[in-house]
Amino acid sequence: MRFDIITIFPEMFGGFLGAGILGKAVAKGLLDIRIHDLRDQAEGRHRQVDDRPFGGGEGMVLMPGPVFQAVEAVRESAETPVILLSPQGRLFNSEMARDWAGRRQVVLICGRYEGVDERVGLRLASAEVSIGDYVLTGGEPAAMVVVDAVARFVPGVVGKAASVAHDSFAEGLLDCPHYTRPRVFRGEVVPDVLFSGDHARIERWRRRQALAKTLDRRPDLVGRRPPAAADRCAAATSRRLWRPSSPVIGRPARIEAACRRMTSW
Ligand code: SAM
Repeated sequence: MRFDIITIFPEMFGGFLGAGILGKAVAKGLLDIRIHDLRDQAEGRHRQVDDRPFGGGEGMVLMPGPVFQAVEAVRESAETPVILLSPQGRLFNSEMARDWAGRRQVVLICGRYEGVDERVGLRLASAEVSIGDYVLTGGEPAAMVVVDAVARFVPGVVGKAASVAHDSFAEGLLDCPHYTRPRVFRGEVVPDVLFSGDHARIERWRRRQALAKTLDRRPDLVGRRPPAAADRCAAATSRRLWRPSSPVIGRPARIEAACRRMTSW
């Protein structure tokens, strides 16, 4: 799949695209990530792409002309999602990432300064997307977040597809806890079940832990869909998982309420 990223700081993407899983996916041709300097669309010797806001006020605003031209030069079809990164957009989530991973191309526009002329959001972008309720100095880190999250859903990018399938949010739950060596670390002991060799039991334990963690930290996720029968069962038993001293599962009352909601679907 192809990303086209429009930015005034193309150099910011070098390290990001050259390392780790993304670097390998680019090298294998699974991802085609093209960075476009917005200033290439500027007119005049100074390659100006921003100007003062009409009506006065602080800062500069990216002008619509270069942004429209940059997008029109790279967009392959009218179906291509053109995403304006903005703190005022819809909150980015796993469903969007999965959806965009199935597209041939996604165009990302990185704002800077006070932002981008409003007409870009109104007439050019198919969506405005925010990565969280805070303000960054520019859209580049947000574009990296989006590329990284989408790339994980592109077949072949993450070696083991099963790990993506079980990650947080994939099935509407947070991931289960993971442990590795040593078995005892500073007095904290890895749960015995993980050494039982009984894969069905380990799977049930992981599912219950994932559910209990989700009920504790993100009960809003559980309320979004009818739980599967296995989860109703796990909710019924997850009361036994509470360990008040545990930093993970420490709020029985909230879990109790969420379990009650789940078992009464
Ligand atoms: N004046 C704008 C406002 O208050 O909504 C903030 C502009 S911000 C300093 C500059 C650029 O950073 C934005 O145009 C956008 O591209 C990017 N940006 C900042 N915060 C973001 C966020 N939470 N999600 C996505 N992009 C963000």
